[in-house]
Amino acid sequence: MNKIVLVTGGSGGLGGALARGFAGQGSPVVIAARRLEKLQELADAMAHEGAQVLAISCDVTDREQVRSLGAEIAKRLGAVQILINNAGIARAVSFSDMADQQWDDTLETNLTGAYNCCKVFLPGMLQAKWGRIINIGSTTAKVGYSHVTAYTASKHGLIGLTRSLALETARQGITVNTICPGYVDDERTHKNARAMAEKTGKGVEEILKMFAASAPQNRLIEPQEIASLALLIASEKLSGMTGQAINVDGGAVMV
Ligand code: NDP
Repeated sequence: MNKIVLVTGGSGGLGGALARGFAGQGSPVVIAARRLEKLQELADAMAHEGAQVLAISCDVTDREQVRSLGAEIAKRLGAVQILINNAGIARAVSFSDMADQQWDDTLETNLTGAYNCCKVFLPGMLQAKWGRIINIGSTTAKVGYSHVTAYTASKHGLIGLTRSLALETARQGITVNTICPGYVDDERTHKNARAMAEKTGKGVEEILKMFAASAPQNRLIEPQEIASLALLIASEKLSGMTGQAINVDGGAVMV
């Protein structure tokens, strides 16, 4: 595969695995996030491994920055053919204690951020009559969980965006799908476990075991498993699949 790929939230645990997955198949990959330092660190490591990779700072909530990102990628590589809307934020808090700002930030990043990127990168896909949009949802896109109302609402919204956009692009060679991971064994999950351990007085290992036990397979998901599915969705092998939201969660959610 030598398609041009953009991974938003490319400096995070999952974003890094997605970027490495596509780069490993020979794709030029752009990783984008707000903080350039961490992005550049990953880009340097990937380049050292032989990847063609660009790190570009972009806040997906800022439409002007997303447009500039599009212009810079077009100038340096060409049109984005595979867009992976992976940038996301999450914070657990009860609905009553949640500040309005947290609701706004979560919706703006996880849902409107994906919209902003689709808006900028879809025209190039329509013109080429080929494209892949892969949204990174969550099991919270399918079912409700306590203390994460904003996150859950944003991820449910992502499935609505996926389905409607899939219909509008179904005859244009473009597929739009969402991957819904369960607890991924990455730095964010470990950070959450540390925060929960501090709050509850339990050990970090115990919390991680609890996360794992929430899935019938009794384990966390490897970031590479998400990357493998993304690669399959992006390939011609799965060009008939659009408008779907696929769980990779050890059997935790079966809808
Ligand atoms: P991380 O917190 O490790 O990474 C999040 C990434 O998003 C970082 O690169 C961050 O960089 C970037 N980001 C955050 N806000 C913005 C913004 N406004 N504009 C651009 N980039 C932004 O999380 P994960 O890698 O674990 O998560 C990636 C995706 O996977 C998210 O959508 C998450 O909801 C989803 N997910 C994760 C699960 C898990 O267990 N880890 C489970 C289910 C879903 P910076 O802060 O520099 O902008």
